[in-house]
Amino acid sequence: MQSDQRNEHNPIRLSATDGNSDGGSSTEAVRLDQPIQFVKGVGPNRARLFARLGINTVADLIRHVPFRYESECGLMQMNEVPVDHIVTLRGEVASVRWHYRGRMPRFEASIEDGSGHIHLVWFHGGYLRKKIRPGMTLEVHGKTQRKYGYLQMINPKWARVDDDEGADGGGGYDPSLNKEARLRPVYSATEDLPSERIEQVIDSVLTEALAQIDDHLSAEACERLELVRLADAYRMIHRPACEEDHHKARRRLAFDELLMLQLGVAMRRHQWRIESTAHALDVTETVDRRIRDRLPFTLTPDQDAVISEVVADLEVATPMNRLLQGDVGSGKTAVALYAMLAAVADKHQAALLAPTELLAEQHYSTVCELLHDSGVRIGLLTGSLTAGERETIHADIREGRLDLVIGTHALLTDTVLFHRLAVLVIDEQHRFGVQQRAVLRQPKDGERKGTVPHTLVMTATPIPRTLSLTLFGDLDVSTIRKPPPGRSPVVTKVVTEVKRDTVYGYMADRMRKHGEQSYIVLPLIDEEAADGSPGEDEKLTSDLPTDEGEGESRTGLRNVRSHLKWLEDGPFAGLTLAAIHGRLKRQTRERIMERFRQGRIDALVATTVIEVGVDVANATMMVIENAERFGLAQLHQLRGRIGRGTDQKNKAVCTLIANPTTEDAQSRLDAIAETTDGFVIAERDFEIRGMGEIFGERQSGIAPLKSVTFPDDFDLLNLARREAFDRIKDDPDLHGAEHTLLRKRLMKLHGANLGIGDVG
Ligand code: ADP
Ligand code: MG
Repeated sequence: MQSDQRNEHNPIRLSATDGNSDGGSSTEAVRLDQPIQFVKGVGPNRARLFARLGINTVADLIRHVPFRYESECGLMQMNEVPVDHIVTLRGEVASVRWHYRGRMPRFEASIEDGSGHIHLVWFHGGYLRKKIRPGMTLEVHGKTQRKYGYLQMINPKWARVDDDEGADGGGGYDPSLNKEARLRPVYSATEDLPSERIEQVIDSVLTEALAQIDDHLSAEACERLELVRLADAYRMIHRPACEEDHHKARRRLAFDELLMLQLGVAMRRHQWRIESTAHALDVTETVDRRIRDRLPFTLTPDQDAVISEVVADLEVATPMNRLLQGDVGSGKTAVALYAMLAAVADKHQAALLAPTELLAEQHYSTVCELLHDSGVRIGLLTGSLTAGERETIHADIREGRLDLVIGTHALLTDTVLFHRLAVLVIDEQHRFGVQQRAVLRQPKDGERKGTVPHTLVMTATPIPRTLSLTLFGDLDVSTIRKPPPGRSPVVTKVVTEVKRDTVYGYMADRMRKHGEQSYIVLPLIDEEAADGSPGEDEKLTSDLPTDEGEGESRTGLRNVRSHLKWLEDGPFAGLTLAAIHGRLKRQTRERIMERFRQGRIDALVATTVIEVGVDVANATMMVIENAERFGLAQLHQLRGRIGRGTDQKNKAVCTLIANPTTEDAQSRLDAIAETTDGFVIAERDFEIRGMGEIFGERQSGIAPLKSVTFPDDFDLLNLARREAFDRIKDDPDLHGAEHTLLRKRLMKLHGANLGIGDVG
C-alpha cells in the first residue's frame, strides 16, 4: 500500500497543511502525514526498515501500538531484587571469568552494590575480556533469574558508569534509561529495527503528534460511553503509566474498531430496508392450519416461536433478512417449509438453496413426500442436469409453472429468473460466502426493480453470538435451542489406534445382532485424493504424521478404498459394505444411499460427503478415522448423522480414532467428547480458531479487528452495536455535521467492503 492511501485509513485526522510533505526538516513541528523519513533520527535507510512494518508516515507510527508490555522495576538495590523481573542494577565488578571450553563459551562477571551481589553471564562474550574488569562500576539491565540458589542475569545490557558518567564504555546501553519503574512497550519489530528503536522514534514525535489527533467521538459521547478521548488513548497505549492506562486505551481503540464495523452493518441493513421491497404475504389461519396438517408431527415450542417471527416478517413489504440457527436435527427444515408454503399458498414462488447436490436431492425427496397430492409443483435444479432439462426447468421457473424450486448453486446463475419469487431459503449458510449472499439479494432483470425475496438463512453450525453480530450483524437471528423430543444424545468416545480392532468388533456385533447400521468416515478417497466435493469446506490440516501402517496412505491418512477392503476382509466380514464419496456419479451415490436407507447396506465407508443431509434413523454408529484432521464444526456435523431415530434400543455411539499431534487438534477432540450442544461447540471452535481465522476465511476483505479479543469484548461489542444502530437510526447516512469525521473514516475503512462506499 502506498503511504498516501494508508493515511486515509487513518483514524487520525490529517493535518491541514497539505502538499509539501517531502519538505520537513527536524526543526519543524511533526505532522501526522509527514513521511517517517523526515522524523528526527530516521532518514532514508531506516525509513525503509519502517516501511517493512507498514509504517510510512508519522500517523502510521502512532497507530503501530505495542502488542505487549514488559513490567520493569527500575533501578534497585541488589538485596531487594525479585526473581523473574526486569530490573536495573548498579554495582562494582568483583570478579570476571572467561569460560572458553564447552559448547557455549561464556564471559561471567560478579557485581556487588554493598547490599548484595549478582552473577552476570554473556554467552559468546569473549570480546568483553577487554572491556569489563574488576573494580569498574557497571549499570546492568535485564531479567533476573535464580540458578543454583544464586541470583543471575543472562546477557544483560550494560554500561560502564564510573569514570565518565553518560558514556556507555562500550556496552551500547544508554544508562539514562530504565531508572524508573514502568511498563515498557514491546512493539512488533524486525531484526534491523528492534522494539527499542521504534520506542525511541515514537518518543521523539509522540507529544506533537498527539496534539494533532482529532476525535471522531465528541467529549460528551466519550463520557457517556466511559471511553477515553482518542489522543489520550494513543498516549496511554504507547506510554502507559500503569496497567489501568493500557486497559483504558485498548478499550477505546477496540471500541472504535467495533463501532466502525457495526456502523457499516447498520448502514447496510438500513439501505437494504429502504431500497428494496418484498411481497407482503397474507398468512391466514387457514393457510397456517393447512401447512401444519401437512407435517407428520406437532411443531415444538421452539419451532412455533421461530415460525411466529418468520410470519411477522413475511407479512410486511420490508424484506425479511433472517438467520435461523439450530443444531443438526433441531428441525429447521419444518420452519423453512412453513415459510415456503406460506409463499406458495399466496400464489408466489419459493426457492430453497442447498450447499450440495446430495442435500438438495434429499430436501427434494423429503418435500415431495410431504407434499404429495397437494398440487404444489416442485422442481429440482442442480448442476448435473442436461442442457435440455435445465432449459425446461428454467422456463418453468420463469413462467411460474413451478411453485417451489430446490437447488444448488445452479440456482444462482443469472439465467435463472423467477416469475414471482417471494421466499428464498438458504440452507447451511456458512458454506455460502458473503459475496454470494449479496448476489442473491440483487434484484434480477425481469423482476420488479427493487423487489427481493424474503430471505431465511439456515445454519446447523450455530454461530457464536459475537460472530453473528459482527459477521452477520445485519441479519435478524432466530434460534431453535431444543431439538424435537425423543432423541437421545450421541455418546462420543475418543480413542487411539490401539483400540481400533475392539471398536470395529463391537460395531460388527451390533450390526449382526440388531440390524443397526453404521458410518465409517475417512479423510481421503484413495492413496492420493482428498474428497474435493462441495461437502468439505474445512481443509484438512497439513501436519501430517509420517508413520505408515495397514490401510494408510503415504500421508499417514487412511482412505476409503483400502479401509473398505480392510473391513471386508477383517472385522466386517460377511456384512454388506459400500463406499461413498464425492467422485462417484450422482446416480451411483443416490442408488447407494437409497439401498442404505432401505437397510440393504450395513455400513457406509465414506468421506465427508455424508456430513450434511443424510438422514437414516437406523444408523446408530459412526467411526471417524484420523479424527484429528477434521475441524470441530465438521466433527459435530458428522456426528449429527447418527442418533436420528426416536425409538433406539441402543444408544448411538460415535467413536473418534485419533492421533492428535497439535494442541489445537487435542482441544478439538476434547471439546467434541465433552458436549453435544452445538452452541457450546461453536463457542469452543471460535476460541480455538480465533477471530482472525474465521474472518479471513469467511469474510476476506473486512479489516481485521486488531485490538478486539473475543469472548472478552462481548460487552464492548454490544455497546458499540447499540451506539452504531442509534446513530444510524437518527442519521442514516451520517450526513449530520457531528458525523463528518466519523463518516469519512468509516468510508475509508469499510465503504468498499460493505458495499456502502457509494452512499451519498
Ligand atoms: P435440521 O435441518 O435442523 O438438521 P431436520 O429439519 O432435518 O433438522 O429435522 C430432523 C428430524 O427431526 C427430521 O427427521 C424431522 O422429520 C424431525 N422433526 C422435525 N421437527 C419435529 C417435531 N416437531 N417433532 C418430531 N420430529 C420432528
Ligand atoms: Mg437440515
